[in-house]
Amino acid sequence: MNIVLVSPPIQDMYFTPGRSSALGMHTVAALLDKTGEKVSALNCPQQKPEGRSIPPLQGTGYLQKFIIPGERGKLSFFTGYRHFGPSFTECAEKIHTLKPDLVLVSSFAFAYADAALALIEAIRTHGCTVPVGVGGAGPSAFPEYYLKHEGTDFVVTGEAETILPLIISRIKSGSTDFSGISNTYFKKDGEISVPSGFTYPESEDLEFVWSVTGETADTMYISTSLSRGCPKRCRFCSNFITHNRRFRTVSVDKIKEKLCTFPKHKRIILNFEDDNLTFLPEYFFEVLTLFTSAVPDVHFMAENGIDYSFLTPKSIKKLVQYGFKQFNLSLGTLSEKNAASENRPLSLIKYETLLREIEKYSVPVITYFICGLQGDTPESVVETLLYLAELPTLAGISPFYPVPGLYGFTDRNLFKENPPSACRGAAFYPWNRTLTTGEMVTAFRLARLVNLVKQKQHTLLERKLLQRITATEKLHTVVRKNKRNILAEVPLMDGKMVSLFFKNRIDGLKGL
Ligand code: SF4
Repeated sequence: MNIVLVSPPIQDMYFTPGRSSALGMHTVAALLDKTGEKVSALNCPQQKPEGRSIPPLQGTGYLQKFIIPGERGKLSFFTGYRHFGPSFTECAEKIHTLKPDLVLVSSFAFAYADAALALIEAIRTHGCTVPVGVGGAGPSAFPEYYLKHEGTDFVVTGEAETILPLIISRIKSGSTDFSGISNTYFKKDGEISVPSGFTYPESEDLEFVWSVTGETADTMYISTSLSRGCPKRCRFCSNFITHNRRFRTVSVDKIKEKLCTFPKHKRIILNFEDDNLTFLPEYFFEVLTLFTSAVPDVHFMAENGIDYSFLTPKSIKKLVQYGFKQFNLSLGTLSEKNAASENRPLSLIKYETLLREIEKYSVPVITYFICGLQGDTPESVVETLLYLAELPTLAGISPFYPVPGLYGFTDRNLFKENPPSACRGAAFYPWNRTLTTGEMVTAFRLARLVNLVKQKQHTLLERKLLQRITATEKLHTVVRKNKRNILAEVPLMDGKMVSLFFKNRIDGLKGL
């Protein structure tokens, strides 16, 4: 059977090459390949990664007033939506030329559900009549949303790779009735047929898959993910919806075996996309040893964040020696009260000790925290930013967003009223009603200010910008007008948060 796997174009305010790895799609491709099927994988966002400007997405009108046309520079907010990848029609044409017997669309986040459905629409408009199925973290959260499109034949939730061979065999026998196959939703007589059971792979051993996300003359950027599932229960985390809570890894033997085909001819920056790879520290260090002994010039990143609680001064030293280029520390929240209600243990004493330790090695740190959690207030978010301003770390602010099925967000009707586009960080949507969109945008801009102040060197324009902000105690930015960069006050910022920030800046922001 000729199977085409597609990772659809992305429509968002921003997109970084690191997010285009499509590891889920590549994992499914590797497994189907093993079963002897002819498989083609189409990673659309990687084909036109620069993106093109598009009108605001449906349901995002509330955000438009915060966008400043022509804004640029380190303090800027997003400047509008972009489409990353070829047009949906071009993707459909490409799929058509591959003459598929089955099309599988990979949707890695519910936030991007509408792009997956637009691709399916284009595939059908182009005359494709073969079965089309969808899988990934997006459909795992809300399968019915994807099945509502008449072009979608079936949806597989959870880890699709064990289910797909059963579906393929049913299609080969001429049927698109998937009754009795777990995790599989499909249409029967115009109604959605819900599976009678849900399973997760029995095997402890995952596939070892990697994806090149960028390349220069001397460096290759590669992403991989070596684990799935997490037994921890942070309230804001949706990992369990797709992968369950059992922690599983790619076996060391499998990595050893496949490392002979891993690129080695350039400097490699290897990014671990895992959500909690440090859950088994011994395994993590064994893996690092394997990579460093097999790949001559390899450096590591963990852009999705490292759980700081596993770090110790000794392990920091080891990670630096292994070639960690940056520490992305995910704390979730820096409020001890919030940490308890979010089920995310927090020790600021430990965190600060670790930061001072990392500082000794001059390795940069970004500390991620979520803004807009249930226990947040505008004041607590400013307090967090002022706290981070004094520490040797950049502030990585992530506006809260849910997916269907997350704790507190199990009512699917919520997601019928609000489009998937609101389920992304860059939507700044006030899901918990603790901070308004305006307050979250203000916090985002203040975080950028904190980071700009920490920058070791500033351009002349940045110095003028900082001086203007200090003198007026108001947020300003750079705007391109009539071919000139001018400084302009940022409208609609939350006055109380900005005043609180500047009132405390003597203690909090000595550089400003
Ligand atoms: S946020 Fe990280 S540690 Fe917490 S449940 Fe999710 S994967 Fe596990």
